[in-house]
Amino acid sequence: MYNEKLNAIEEKLQGRLDAKRYHHTLGVMYTSACLAMKHGESVEKALTAGLLHDCAKCMPGEEKLLTARKYQSELNITGFEIDHPHLLHGKLGVKDAKEEYGITDPDILNAIANHTKGRPGMSLLEKIVFTADFIEPDRDGHHIPGMDLIRKTAFEDLDLAVYMIIKRTLDYLQESGGPVDTDSVATYEYYKKITEEKN
Ligand code: FE
Ligand code: FE
Repeated sequence: MYNEKLNAIEEKLQGRLDAKRYHHTLGVMYTSACLAMKHGESVEKALTAGLLHDCAKCMPGEEKLLTARKYQSELNITGFEIDHPHLLHGKLGVKDAKEEYGITDPDILNAIANHTKGRPGMSLLEKIVFTADFIEPDRDGHHIPGMDLIRKTAFEDLDLAVYMIIKRTLDYLQESGGPVDTDSVATYEYYKKITEEKN
């Protein structure tokens, strides 16, 4: 699409992400836009947040840890995230989004920060990016049980989709023996309650 601001970000990002991550990023950007159309969010904000959500993902591991330690309190980085560096790119992405890409909108910055683990009481934009990250077309739906239903639900009941995604993520971590952190559990508990109250 043609949008000067977004095109400038795209160009810069393309040099910083590997090809696979860049394609995922475009998938999240357009899926966020579709969800914004459906649920009544600003399409431009959704495009921007989707485009930038993984902007710090391809930072070399060493640099990731050094930056995380240096800005730990400023970026609210937890000890668990330092111990599990794949969780760092959300909060490090906030720093990059501000400094490298000139983003100031707190809602966009929150959507970047919370796209992996979510948080209780996410804004509409945060829920959109969290969901788009999971359902975008490049994600291999065949290997994720229930993907078709989650994709459909995202366009019907966004809170329920968030619940299904965080449940799926926690189930997967339990099955694979991966570490489960308290932030994801807090998101799970919150959206479980919300969806139970609705039904
Ligand atoms: Fe990510
Ligand atoms: Fe992502």
